[in-house]
Amino acid sequence: MKAQSALSVKEANLKAMTAFIYTQGSATKQMFEHELGLSLPTITQNLRAMEADGLIVKGEMQQSTGGRKAQIYEFAAHSSVAIGVRIQTTRITAIAIDLNGKSVATRQRTLPYRNNDAYYQRMNGIINGFAQELAKQGSTVLGVAFCMQGIVSVDGQSITFGKIMNNTGLKLSELSHGLNYPSLMIHDFDASAMAELWFDHNLKDAVCIYLERRPGGAVIVDGSLYQGPNQCNGSIEHMTLIPGGNTCYCGQQGCMDTYCSPETLMEDGESLPGFFSVLEQGEQEHRKRFSQWLDYVALAVTNIRSVLAGDVIISGEAAQYLDDDDMAGLRERVVEHTPFGTTDFALRKGMALDHQDIIGAALRFVEPYVRELCDM
Ligand SMILES: [Zn+2]
Repeated sequence: MKAQSALSVKEANLKAMTAFIYTQGSATKQMFEHELGLSLPTITQNLRAMEADGLIVKGEMQQSTGGRKAQIYEFAAHSSVAIGVRIQTTRITAIAIDLNGKSVATRQRTLPYRNNDAYYQRMNGIINGFAQELAKQGSTVLGVAFCMQGIVSVDGQSITFGKIMNNTGLKLSELSHGLNYPSLMIHDFDASAMAELWFDHNLKDAVCIYLERRPGGAVIVDGSLYQGPNQCNGSIEHMTLIPGGNTCYCGQQGCMDTYCSPETLMEDGESLPGFFSVLEQGEQEHRKRFSQWLDYVALAVTNIRSVLAGDVIISGEAAQYLDDDDMAGLRERVVEHTPFGTTDFALRKGMALDHQDIIGAALRFVEPYVRELCDM
């Protein structure tokens, strides 16, 4: 067996120390010594290197009851940040997250969406300005991730299906024209699932279902987002639920979208909060509509689970109104339609973080960077 070179051992020690302080948030020399079994000269040398790279800062002195107080070192999570951007019809929202995935700054500007170069240049001017401010505060900007209401091509370079924002065919090179940072595009539902995964280490196999006005899904396999060869795994919204049924914006009939969108709950100019408040009062017509909607959602969940029998995470605008009884009712319906009587799955609500999709998009830059930094 070939002996490891001195450099690789040195590197491995440095990465182990980085991983330790990243996970713990802070550490003393004594902690590195005890937990990693490294010598004090090695620890001192590596701390110096990490400090020079801006990865750690000296914190307070450790409280002690006697003897010398130990210096606490803190992981500098803001040393690098990534920016997630969501383009909406009337405005853009950009959020910077640090290496812990925590949002550290937000920029929102009114900017009516136009699929043209003038719009993208203006948008990128705003993002460049935001990034420069972050850089001034000492953060390296890793990149800008756009979360898109559309399906992204296999190579990640264009939108192959963008009927909601009417931007099918849009290229990343056009979208990022004038942007001074590396960039990528990610389907918004995949982005939300990224955040779900980042903050919940117990997630293994699951389908995330987003009950937005334009519903959708994402697939998690073995603890990772699984976008599949066409980057459209989990596009449950165009699954045929009722053959020959309602016409969908995709051009087909009977899609899940047309039965499971919370829009189908609202009638006569009713708002979604309005619908659920009347429902809560027990109004018969609303209860009937809600029960039917839940039947359709359950049917979609059952179909999905016939191929991927993992957990089910329900998110999106409508999910916030579902209480424990509603979730239990949904689960009951799914179990009823599931053959073999399998009941060993979780059906629960998602994290519903503010701007979860934007944070998840930015994690597309943070995750590989942290993995490389800590050799995880
Ligand atoms: Zn459709």
